[in-house]
Amino acid sequence: MTDTRQTFAARLLHWFDQARRDLPWRRRRDPWAIWVSEIMLQQTRVEAVREPYERFLQRFPTPASFAAASDDELLTAWRGLGYYRRARLLRVGARAVVDQHGGVVPGDPDQLGELPGIGDYTRGAVASIAFGHAEVAVDGNVERVTARHRGLREATNTAPVRRTIRQTVGDWMSRARPGDFNQAMMELGAMVCTPTSPTCERCPVAADCIARAEGLVAQLPVRKPPRAAVEVAARVVLVAGPDGVLGHRLGSEEANAGQVELPGGGVLQSIDPDDLAKVLQQRFAARLRIGAELASVRHAITHHRITLHAHAGSVQAVGQLQWFPLHTSVPWTTPSRKVFRKALGADGSLQA
Ligand code: SF4
Repeated sequence: MTDTRQTFAARLLHWFDQARRDLPWRRRRDPWAIWVSEIMLQQTRVEAVREPYERFLQRFPTPASFAAASDDELLTAWRGLGYYRRARLLRVGARAVVDQHGGVVPGDPDQLGELPGIGDYTRGAVASIAFGHAEVAVDGNVERVTARHRGLREATNTAPVRRTIRQTVGDWMSRARPGDFNQAMMELGAMVCTPTSPTCERCPVAADCIARAEGLVAQLPVRKPPRAAVEVAARVVLVAGPDGVLGHRLGSEEANAGQVELPGGGVLQSIDPDDLAKVLQQRFAARLRIGAELASVRHAITHHRITLHAHAGSVQAVGQLQWFPLHTSVPWTTPSRKVFRKALGADGSLQA
């Protein structure tokens, strides 16, 4: 065990330089390759990512190559990883890089964070590993290491504790090697400070670890229990015309910014069938006539269990809505795609 006369980062990096696993994405500095690896590694084990990762980058070596991928190519390239929504979002992000940045992944952390599909964690990982910015990247591993090391007894899945963790990791951060520092934190959480059987005797930062000193390792981190599921009956209208389907592009303040959804009150709002036309007028200044229900699909978002009812409709005034083709290049939301699969025929016609 090293002592505390060295900084946290120095001890951690000294350990990482000897213990780091040789992983395919650690041999690269190309921001696109780093971005792809971070998306693939979400909810997927390292071993399951190795082979698809190499295959994917051979087929799509640049954002532009993936931006042009068809749905079939996307599904083939993502084979073995599951959670295909991640791949679709990655393609939305790649298209934004092509449209807004000439196909070059921006090095500025703020611009990175504005790309669709890039959250705080991915932003920090790409900015630090590919571009050397001192930006933190807090995943579940980093959260656990920090909560134990600082002896945080409050639930880590709350906004104030998340802030404390980001601040603490930022204070520990190596300014000289930010990308290696972030990877070392994740590696420590994955290999040493593991969820159920941490090996503190092998830990490079054990000397000043509060959880270890106070016998709290098994109790930390604390997480607030998930909220009970809430059932939602959301409603949308499906109006098909010669130019496609009427949709609403989600703004930068909304979840899934940049994607397109069928017009409704939002998938998290329960709406009475009789109120749908009124809601569409209020939200989009659109005048639509709402008809019979065409299809209903199930969808889950965090603790919401949504039954999305899609109604037929006709339009008198589109207001702020727009016609979008039913083409793979349009980033329709997952619930909207589910509705299309059920309500539209292979030729795009309504099945009513
Ligand atoms: S000493 Fe143990 S609990 Fe503390 S950070 Fe290291 S592995 Fe985690």
